[in-house]
Amino acid sequence: HEGPIETDAVIVGAGPVGLFQVFELGLLEIKAHIIDSLPYPGGQCIELYPDKPIYDIPAVPVCTGKELTDNLLKQIEPFGATHHYGQEVTVVQKQDDGRFYVETSKGTRFLTKTIFIAGGVGSFQPRTLKVDGIEAYDDKQVFYRVKNPAQFAGKNTVIVGGGDSALDWTLNFVQDGPNKAESVILIHRRDGFRAAPASVAKMRELCEAYEMQFIVGQITGIEERDGRMTGVKVTGGDGVTRVVPMDMLLIFFGLSPKLGPIAEWGLNIERKQIVVDTEKFETSTPGIFAVGDVNTYPGKKKLILSGFHEAALAAFAAAPYIFPEKRIHLQYTTTSPKLHKVLGVE
Ligand code: FAD
Repeated sequence: HEGPIETDAVIVGAGPVGLFQVFELGLLEIKAHIIDSLPYPGGQCIELYPDKPIYDIPAVPVCTGKELTDNLLKQIEPFGATHHYGQEVTVVQKQDDGRFYVETSKGTRFLTKTIFIAGGVGSFQPRTLKVDGIEAYDDKQVFYRVKNPAQFAGKNTVIVGGGDSALDWTLNFVQDGPNKAESVILIHRRDGFRAAPASVAKMRELCEAYEMQFIVGQITGIEERDGRMTGVKVTGGDGVTRVVPMDMLLIFFGLSPKLGPIAEWGLNIERKQIVVDTEKFETSTPGIFAVGDVNTYPGKKKLILSGFHEAALAAFAAAPYIFPEKRIHLQYTTTSPKLHKVLGVE
């Protein structure tokens, strides 16, 4: 059994602010591990608006959420942080030696001198369909997001949900195109939608033309044969359960925007945000810092640029925990030979 990873800094959350935290720590020669529950970096910028333009990043007149993320990843590359994706940080406990024990949902464990919580609006996780035995088919026949639309081409596809994602993908797979499914059945618990009215109207039109089907009901079970899922049991408003055959199941119950386990780490929290000071951006537990959308202080604005500033000051404030003997001086990246060395630009 391997022991926990020993490190100086763990960053919880790989949104724009968590990524920039790697940079600010790196300039001070502090190596970090960065963890996100999403399978990729970028936080809200990637999950909510990858293609939308951002206009208020200083000196970047315009860039999309994706471009910002790609540039941040490039900027932090010299610092060799270790990235851990697809796992949520669940446990944070102070140890007797002053370090923190950190554990993720995948069982990755750390002993760290400092923690930087950059958890944003919380850990993004799709709400799952709770039906016995369904997890065995996750990412094989059951999906909570579409990564590769071609996977659904020519398949009997069942889509569940009543929001924009459910409707947009329904229309995408019904209509002629490279990803056209063999058949599409949309299932929603009621005959009313949160999606754009135009998409709903289009869906109803397609149902009338027998291009697809819409069923009001809830999935209450699955059918399996020879290690494959062959259908879902759908209980309708009339209380009758019918089997709907399928190859692929796409579930869009939305992302749960909860602070999640962060709320249980004993930190001072106000209205779901972590209270910090504005000198160090330190929480009520010394050695644990909070930056970006997840923190609160008088005058807080949830902007990326504010998060970047917070990350810089938090890094300086953390340095004494890691190098108690060292005096930390401010240096310019432009002129400091030492910083050029850590940046790898000598
Ligand atoms: P986030 O981007 O929320 O990232 C936090 C990450 O932490 C997430 O990936 C989450 O999965 C992860 N996480 C949380 N808890 C855990 C845990 N326990 N374990 C593991 N991982 C965890 N801001 C601007 O400045 N300019 C704009 O133009 C702008 N436009 C926007 C447009 C839209 C539509 C939206 C929704 C927001 C916009 N914002 C904009 C706000 C901006 O996106 C946020 O301020 C920014 O994303 C905050 O970054 P963050 O790194 O603090 O958090």
